[in-house]
Amino acid sequence: MVFTLYHAIISLGFWVVVSSEFEIISFVLGSMLPDIESVYYAFEALKYCPANDYVCLAEYPSHYFLHSFLGITFLACIIAYSVNFLREKLGLVAVSLKRLFISAVIGGITHLFVDLTVHRGEDALMLFFPFPERFSFVFPCSFAFWHGFMIASIFAVIACREKITRWLK
Ligand SMILES: [Zn+2]
Repeated sequence: MVFTLYHAIISLGFWVVVSSEFEIISFVLGSMLPDIESVYYAFEALKYCPANDYVCLAEYPSHYFLHSFLGITFLACIIAYSVNFLREKLGLVAVSLKRLFISAVIGGITHLFVDLTVHRGEDALMLFFPFPERFSFVFPCSFAFWHGFMIASIFAVIACREKITRWLK
């Protein structure tokens, strides 16, 4: 949720480190869009949980299809075609659908990776949806770790801004 914007920044940090050969718009969209379902379930939680019961709100299950390998692949198909259309309309350099798709999938994997380390219990991830098993790899101080990673990502993005603008031409 609030963390969704963090996903975009953290994914840019990954993007700089992993490979700037991935198309950046698809990569960032892939890293953010799985949280569409979290927004939906957040509204459900508001109906279900007593007012000001923050534990209930925080632990209300919000990860299903879009937080699975199947879900990010599905999203990547939509993202690849949408970004292809967008790049054409904006007159940007053409990028193959395959590269757009792979970029969105890798962006989605960064999302799953981060969420796996911060959500647990009923709110853990159904990575192999529709199979119901939920996975969680929360480690001590994981929130603090990702906050630090986010700050490092901001510096990495500033340092590598030329790599980013290359994809926006
Ligand atoms: Zn998420």
